Amino acid sequence: MSDLIRKSVQAMQGYVPGEQPKEADIVKLNTNENPYLPSPDVQDILSMVDISVLSRYPDPVCMELRKAIAGLHGCDVENVFVGNGSDEVLALCIRAFVERDGSVGFFDPSYSLYPILADIEDVEKKPVSLDAGYGWQMPADYAASLFFLTHPNAPTSFVYDKNSIESFVKNFGGVVLIDEAYADFAEDNCMDLALQHENVIVARTLSKSYSLAGIRLGYCVGNEALIGAMYKIKDSYNVNYLTQEIARVAILDQDTMKANVSAIVETRKMVAEKLEEFGFEVGKSKTNFLWVKPLGIGAKTLFEALRKKNIIVRYFGNDERTRDYLRVTVGTAPEMLKFLDATEAILNGGE
Ligand code: PMP
Repeated sequence: MSDLIRKSVQAMQGYVPGEQPKEADIVKLNTNENPYLPSPDVQDILSMVDISVLSRYPDPVCMELRKAIAGLHGCDVENVFVGNGSDEVLALCIRAFVERDGSVGFFDPSYSLYPILADIEDVEKKPVSLDAGYGWQMPADYAASLFFLTHPNAPTSFVYDKNSIESFVKNFGGVVLIDEAYADFAEDNCMDLALQHENVIVARTLSKSYSLAGIRLGYCVGNEALIGAMYKIKDSYNVNYLTQEIARVAILDQDTMKANVSAIVETRKMVAEKLEEFGFEVGKSKTNFLWVKPLGIGAKTLFEALRKKNIIVRYFGNDERTRDYLRVTVGTAPEMLKFLDATEAILNGGE
């Protein structure tokens, strides 16, 4: 059998998605989803869908949706690519910008999908380790065809200094994809760099701030030549009709997105303060999750004890860089109070 499968695919471990249980009593804080409802306009558009349109293929280049995104960011539709989640956007960047003998760079730790995507395409991986304070210093003569720069970073939840990002992209010979999945939860972002520098693309997703992980819609903004290259190689109809329509109305309703983000940012502050009272180390999050070092009890022990109480957070296992930390998605205030109460009970020796 094995000679039927590409060697690089045989060597791969297999994608392990975050746990997605459906039981009602679970507090799910493990995959950085948004606990609030998306724009009410999404409900309206779904009720208005004329099902006869579903027998036809959708617009292959998503023009109406791209117009809404271009309007939001003050650019032209030619600067906007939309994909089936930002995961597809990232995969297409490797296919469009990295030759077979090229390489993909990224910081370590950052989004765990980047090395998997590089392996799928059989291209070299060139990770750059973040330092102890999760900052970065590029090695002398560092080069790669494409660099994934996660900003704010995941799983650490921190932002980098924007001037350092700009000088990095100016001096870098390849394409820089700034992955801004969590940018709406931060005060600043790098969207302007995508329109000023010809080697920069900024990727966003509707999975987090827009409460729409279920529709799978990600997009990116960059110069026309790079975006045009991505359009040449995408699947014919990569974004389905319902997703295009839902995403369009959600993007036009910035107020709902911003109100949900504000609620999460407020809850984030409350949870961080409480965890610090427990004696935990909590990073200055600019995302919808917290990067927590549970001093005293240890990450694995706390993760397992919370799981027994039906509270699921993310533990990254035995990787030396991340094994002392938990990544905790910020849910609703009541969910987070359950998480805090359970944590306190565990710390006090309760089961
Ligand atoms: N980038 C980062 C940094 C992420 O954490 C995620 C979500 N896990 C994604 C991209 C993918 O988002 P999407 O749901 O749009 O595929």
